[in-house]
Amino acid sequence: MSDKQPGFDTLQIHAGARPDPATGARQVPIYQSTAFVFRDADHAAALFNLQELGYIYSRLTNPTVAALQERMATLEGGAGAVCCSSGHAAQIMALFPLMGPGLNIVSSNRLYGGTVTQFSQTIKRFGWSAKFVDTEDLAAVEAAIDDNTRAIFCESIANPGGYITDLDALAAIADRNGIPLIVDNTTATPYLCRPIEHGATLVVHSLTKYLTGNGTVTGGCIIDSGKFNWSNGKFPSFSEPEPAYHGLKFHETFGHLAFTFHSIAIGLRDLGMTMNPQGAHYTLLGIETLSLRMERHCANAVKVAEWLENDPRVAYVTYAGLPSSPYHDRMARICPKGASALFTFSLKAGYEACVKLIDSVNLFSHVANLGDTRSLIIHSASTTHRQLTETQQIAAGAAPDVVRLSIGLEDPEDIIADLDQALAKATA
Ligand SMILES: *Cc1c(COP(=O)(O)O)cnc(C)c1O
Repeated sequence: MSDKQPGFDTLQIHAGARPDPATGARQVPIYQSTAFVFRDADHAAALFNLQELGYIYSRLTNPTVAALQERMATLEGGAGAVCCSSGHAAQIMALFPLMGPGLNIVSSNRLYGGTVTQFSQTIKRFGWSAKFVDTEDLAAVEAAIDDNTRAIFCESIANPGGYITDLDALAAIADRNGIPLIVDNTTATPYLCRPIEHGATLVVHSLTKYLTGNGTVTGGCIIDSGKFNWSNGKFPSFSEPEPAYHGLKFHETFGHLAFTFHSIAIGLRDLGMTMNPQGAHYTLLGIETLSLRMERHCANAVKVAEWLENDPRVAYVTYAGLPSSPYHDRMARICPKGASALFTFSLKAGYEACVKLIDSVNLFSHVANLGDTRSLIIHSASTTHRQLTETQQIAAGAAPDVVRLSIGLEDPEDIIADLDQALAKATA
């Protein structure tokens, strides 16, 4: 064995997975057990004091879920990771220890539609708020930050418009203001983009998408870089004695693992947004082929996007993998291996034609999902982005005359043929 750090293809298969100590099972077993037996009373006390690591109860920790957490932390280059029940749970769990009534985040306005709703409506019930800004305007990002701001939030490759965020620039602003940059890396996956290398503090994922990869699991994950100074006065959950944990100070006690331990010991314990072991097992299987799938997803997306761009029925295509995209130049720095396989295109014939197109496809599935082996299509303005105003829809890249595609792993010729016949019907 050499001392060289294993490559991505090796880590996506092996990180976090050891032969099962009890049976030698090579694949990570599904530990379908709620509770784990203590050796004796002292062992139980040590586990509850966080003095010894082990398994107590699956709302907090489970061996199958732990294997997935270790794999995600490794692939993203983080210090630790916590899995949870969905991508949206991961976002709430990431904000939970940072926020409190009266505090806010500064967020990109180019987001998954559900995230716009979560940030603009639902978090208000906790007394938190979000200020939405166009992250192309760095001065506006800086100006939006005030004494009560506790994070900057963005997506690396923004759903649905194929917009690539200048992570390094946002990280520099976050740094100057003593707040973490949180990056939703769902569309890119750690194969295409590693936000921690660009200065992100926390990376959040919907495991539901490319990581599991076949539309079987709802899950989420938060990866902590382990590099943020939580004792700068703004984050008492980490720096001050925790009354819900007999006065423990998380940053002082756990150092670079403070966020990870807090998210398990307080976040999962009290919010209960836990990932189940069966879901974790499916996601581990999916990740074993992540690099192979993402390469093919990207190659297929380039072919389909090029074909659409040259079709006279199409007004424009927003895919950063096309040289015509204003964000194409950012790929080399942010996601050099590809721009993922999610993009939108606009029909010259407008809203009605978009709806007709959706009803005319055969190979494509009309679903509210992305990152599946199957090619998926949706009209965002009438579905996922329906709760938004038209101004918000346009800002999010989901204007009424725009259709979103998630390009799958089928033969690209078949994908194109299906779009061709559906376009013919939609524009007849
Ligand atoms: C799907 C998605 C989410 C939400 O994830 P769920 O697992 O559906 O809760 C968040 N961000 C992005 C970019 C997504 O695509």
